Amino acid sequence: MSKFLEQILEDNKCFVQEERFEEFITTKYPDKKLAILACMDTRLTALLPAALNLKNGDVKIIKNAGGLISHPFGEVTRSLIVAIYELGVEDILVLGHTDCGMRGIDTTHIEKKMMERGITENDLTMIRNCGIELEKWLHGFDDEEESVIKTVNSIRNHPLIPEDVNIHGYIMDSVTGELNEVC
Ligand code: ZN
Repeated sequence: MSKFLEQILEDNKCFVQEERFEEFITTKYPDKKLAILACMDTRLTALLPAALNLKNGDVKIIKNAGGLISHPFGEVTRSLIVAIYELGVEDILVLGHTDCGMRGIDTTHIEKKMMERGITENDLTMIRNCGIELEKWLHGFDDEEESVIKTVNSIRNHPLIPEDVNIHGYIMDSVTGELNEVC
């Protein structure tokens, strides 16, 4: 275990002992009836809620590398469907951000690093033989705006997303937190 994680576990004990959780108590239902699909970028961890004035209980936030939907029946879409039908979400905000690490990912570079860490050529061949387009899957996107538009459209056109849910596309400045509308 890293010293960072050890410290985190220590901090957690203090947090609970000192009952600092009290100000965070809320329900599983998002008060602002909004779900946000965003990137896991560390610059957004505290910036995103601060820049949108979100407190605990306000919204559902779904995060992954790039804020992407790589499969129409994968985890992200399922999360959105649960958020809509079970938790009362009425708006979805697809939130890209500037300087995203998923833009222009060099898949050859990642594969080289995998090999250095013990993944073999055989492993990669086996995955490709299963019909997985590894490079395409790892790649991410080439342009943040295009990616947000594509994701918004894939939600809008999904057969299980009702038409009364509004899908919005924005890009957040990773430094200032400013939102810019994309679609
Ligand atoms: Zn990102």
